[in-house]
Amino acid sequence: MKITTNIKELQQRTSEWIAQGKKIGFVPTMGFLHEGHEALLKKARLENDLVVLSIFVNPLQFGANEDLDSYPRDQKHDKEIAEKHGVDVIFLPDEQTMYPNPLSINLTVVRRTDVLCGRSRPGHFDGVATVLTKLFNIVRPSRVYFGLKDAQQIAVVDALLEDLNFPIELIAVPTVREEDGLAKSSRNVNLLDQERKEAPYVQQALQCGRQHVENGETNPEKVIEKVRQFLEKKTHGKIDYIELLSYPMLQRVETIDQQVILATAVYFQNARLIDNVIFNEYGIKTLG
Ligand code: AMP
Repeated sequence: MKITTNIKELQQRTSEWIAQGKKIGFVPTMGFLHEGHEALLKKARLENDLVVLSIFVNPLQFGANEDLDSYPRDQKHDKEIAEKHGVDVIFLPDEQTMYPNPLSINLTVVRRTDVLCGRSRPGHFDGVATVLTKLFNIVRPSRVYFGLKDAQQIAVVDALLEDLNFPIELIAVPTVREEDGLAKSSRNVNLLDQERKEAPYVQQALQCGRQHVENGETNPEKVIEKVRQFLEKKTHGKIDYIELLSYPMLQRVETIDQQVILATAVYFQNARLIDNVIFNEYGIKTLG
């Protein structure tokens, strides 16, 4: 396994692979790898000749009051995980390498971002789109792997690939969960003991909403209200949002008559948890 911090060196390497007709699977992450990331690496390993993992905590996607400085990091552990999954190259750039000069070009995501996390985190998806555009040009993968835990990110990447004509296939990987249903996340380490006990209710609340649709409810507001009541009863977290939208277009629907996402974000003291469930008009899970 090769570890590089150098853009030119990686571009040289990936150009050679492409010239040899090899397929490159790419897994972009911010590190502190857990089983969620491992699911992406496993799938990438199975489906490609070569696997590139990037680890970069991208400052551009963090807001002023967000956890950029306290974002957990553990390079030694990350390297072991990468090795275990047969990663060929880890790209580990620092900030200076990725952003040597102030950017002259600003990417702005104008659809799919005025809802869910995009509304609570203005500029977040612009930062995501910018760093991914750079990474795609550096790695030039055939396939890129993202987790459905961050379903809005997948919707934005879907638009990025389509609108900017990247010849890359987007692979969406189901959310990996703890035994009690909590979605695995690098930020879970920041939960206090009591919050950790309450955290599984986030997914349970969404399932309760989905079940409501399975039982015949078609009104989004009523489903959202069910989820709200469940969360307020079972957790002390502060609800950021609960939304039900078409997926992947992320538009409001009057009635549930297509594939939709029911998603929530809940603030605990030192961690903001997000989760979602994607299902059709019958309440049957379709993705994730
Ligand atoms: P991050 O390091 O948080 O930027 O995440 C890197 C990638 O891992 C993203 O595509 C995430 O959606 C994915 N990911 C994070 N947590 C999970 C999870 N629990 N299950 C599946 N994928 C995940």
